[in-house]
Amino acid sequence: MAKYVFITGGVVSSLGKGITAASIGTLLKKRGFRVSIIKVDPYLNVDAGTMNPFQHGEVFVTDDGAETDLDIGHYERFIDESLHADNSLTTGKVYSLVIDKERRGAYLGGTVQVIPHITNEIQDRLVKAGEGHDVVIVEIGGTVGDIEGLPFLEAIRQMSSRVGRENVLYCHVTLVPWLEAARELKTKPTQHSVQELRRIGILPHILVCRTSRRMTEEMKNKIALFCTVPTEAVIEMMDEPTIYRVPLSMHRQRLDSLILRYLSLSASQLFPEPDLSDWERVVSRFTNAPRGVEIALVGKYVQLKDAYLSVTEALNHAGIEHDAKVTVRSVESSDIERDGAETLLDGVDGVLIPGGFGGRGIDGMISAIRYARERKIPILGICLGMQLMVVEYARHVCRLAGAHSQEMDPATVHPVIHLMAEQVGIEKLGGTMRLGAYPCDLAPGSAARRAYGADRVSERHRHRYELNNTYRGRLEEAGLVVSGVCPERNLVEIVELPASAHPWFVGCQFHCELKSRPTRPHPLFAAFVGAALREKAERTGENEGE
Ligand code: GLN
Repeated sequence: MAKYVFITGGVVSSLGKGITAASIGTLLKKRGFRVSIIKVDPYLNVDAGTMNPFQHGEVFVTDDGAETDLDIGHYERFIDESLHADNSLTTGKVYSLVIDKERRGAYLGGTVQVIPHITNEIQDRLVKAGEGHDVVIVEIGGTVGDIEGLPFLEAIRQMSSRVGRENVLYCHVTLVPWLEAARELKTKPTQHSVQELRRIGILPHILVCRTSRRMTEEMKNKIALFCTVPTEAVIEMMDEPTIYRVPLSMHRQRLDSLILRYLSLSASQLFPEPDLSDWERVVSRFTNAPRGVEIALVGKYVQLKDAYLSVTEALNHAGIEHDAKVTVRSVESSDIERDGAETLLDGVDGVLIPGGFGGRGIDGMISAIRYARERKIPILGICLGMQLMVVEYARHVCRLAGAHSQEMDPATVHPVIHLMAEQVGIEKLGGTMRLGAYPCDLAPGSAARRAYGADRVSERHRHRYELNNTYRGRLEEAGLVVSGVCPERNLVEIVELPASAHPWFVGCQFHCELKSRPTRPHPLFAAFVGAALREKAERTGENEGE
């Protein structure tokens, strides 16, 4: 039977609960345990699919097409495993399951209530998630004290009776703020937050304290005393230059050994200590990169750093691979419409156009693509980015005036990006989306094929519109290469320009950023950053150092 590590958070949000859960996952996996991680979100949306990135950051997509919270992305990157729809649980999902059952008469006429029906449903899901795993880590979104989170906290409290006290562990992430006026770290918010947790019957075993300054032993002792945990269970989580340092820091504080001890898990003979050498390599390459490139990220949600989280992480991974620091210049695409690409993209080594929905800022993205194509600056377009690369090529190279995507201009004379016939008229939002993993065949001799080193790959999708095959011939005649195709429905997945025309011009319909991992950068990101470095070296006469 699986053991459970529950992660709650207190005082404020954005403390790094997700990174804590992911780091514990890394450490346990490196000890040889089969680990799964679940994110619980106490909101009423059934999934994150309809959420605005401005409010909630990016929507992460799994292979099986679930639209989830971005923390699932952190988990995948940290434990280096692909997760599924079942790894994400929301209030909306739980309630709709319970209401469905009620409609089917599954409760035999009983009164259906939050306790026990909702709380039991939550527990059933957690028990099911444990099948085939040694440890399930469950992160409860929100902050202790929020009304919305109460059924989940009650459910995880009851889990200790259901699966046995010795099989559950509660880890509370809290804030130890630095007060400038007093020039000291303050423990009181942590004490109050633990009291709040105790009030609902959960006694945390471990406290992870987010702090901007080193905590003294004395301070840890104080927190330990007031919160009834041993001092060794007070773990400091400092602000780090890279999140990938967190598992290393937690291991230095012996957090993994402590968890094993609490859960009576015996460390395997094979992994008496976790082998973290690949993480050390990632961190040291990230922090000591001898060279750098600047990539412009031209999007419509750039003010919010989490809106493109997987994209910026994938750029970091690619930088690590090349021993280079990737600096992202965030460019709001509508600013390009006002100030021009020449001004805002001046001096960048690469341009990345990420995914997006809706009409705002589209002309700015098209100008950025034209700028990169004409000046031969390496460019990667993802999803919407790829679609606009096609639009730009159709307009300025194929001379199809007014060419557009039907998403932005439903009446365009040249719908180079369109809604396929079978999608027209479907009204349920999301009903027409291509979601999750699809295969993609790569054309021999293409940049994409070289980057992947494979003939067929699988990539994740989240979009509604497709390249219109009616225009494929004209685009190809004008020099655009279709280098990736989804075999099932003959859908264009990747377009590029040959090396003779451009150093690196690749657009993909899928979200390649979602499958990049710190120790295994995504091939297209690695090749893109590699091209940006090469072009920069050529321009500046700098030695590439490879
Ligand atoms: N809006 C485009 C579509 O739905 C692109 C989506 C995206 O970039 N994720 O096809």
